[in-house]
Amino acid sequence: MNTVFWMRGASISLLALAGFLATGCGKTATTGPQEAPPVTPSAVTDDHSQWWCAEHSVPEEICAQCNAKVAAEYQKKGDWCQEHNRPESQCFICSPKRAEKFAAEYEARFGTKPPQPEANE
Ligand SMILES: [Zn+2]
Ligand SMILES: [Zn+2]
Repeated sequence: MNTVFWMRGASISLLALAGFLATGCGKTATTGPQEAPPVTPSAVTDDHSQWWCAEHSVPEEICAQCNAKVAAEYQKKGDWCQEHNRPESQCFICSPKRAEKFAAEYEARFGTKPPQPEANE
């Protein structure tokens, strides 16, 4: 009969149980793997040679933030947001809903959602 061995064994399993409970409770739920964004057929580049200005989420030909001539035209029309230095109709800061119209144009053309610009405002 080996009482010491038995006692040790019992305390070890108690310790193990305590440890298990501690880790079981303290463990925070880890977020699952992030869903990878769908790959767009054409790689998004910022060379401004494409139809879409990925940086400003508007067609390049009307992107006043890339083209000073376009900007001047918008200013002449009175379509200008002084605060954000861009056409009011393209000021997604004042009204994020305005982006939807351009996004729809992009989607109609390419059949995919436009690339999301990096948030820098
Ligand atoms: Zn632009
Ligand atoms: Zn604005």
